[in-house]
Amino acid sequence: MGKKTGMQSDATIDFRMLRRTYVELVRAGDVPRHDACDASIDLVRAAHHYGVARRAACPLCTANELRNVTYLFGPRLPKSGRCITSARSLRAFAARPEQFTAYTVEVCLACQWNHVLAAAPCGGRRSRPRVRRRA
Ligand SMILES: [Zn+2]
Repeated sequence: MGKKTGMQSDATIDFRMLRRTYVELVRAGDVPRHDACDASIDLVRAAHHYGVARRAACPLCTANELRNVTYLFGPRLPKSGRCITSARSLRAFAARPEQFTAYTVEVCLACQWNHVLAAAPCGGRRSRPRVRRRA
């Protein structure tokens, strides 16, 4: 025991199963295509400029235009999140004591398909573990 420090900050939530189910619903026509491919101009722009190109094809239009873009949410950040524009800026946030959540969003530049892929904790570094003791 005593090795629990930092445990809670390692949990990444994976949305891949949800994505697969959603893609199937769109393909089957149960979800309108315009609901699935509704990325805002800002999101498409962010994906275009700061997104990381994916090898995989878009699940809906099959174009090779998928990008992963990361948004950070947390204290003193805009309600709509802060778009991460470089690996360096993400590292800077990761080193901060505040707890942030980094959402990775997949965006297709061709058809505006977009879906959250994962949510991961970021930051929350403490110089020493919080130990509560009763005297
Ligand atoms: Zn597409």
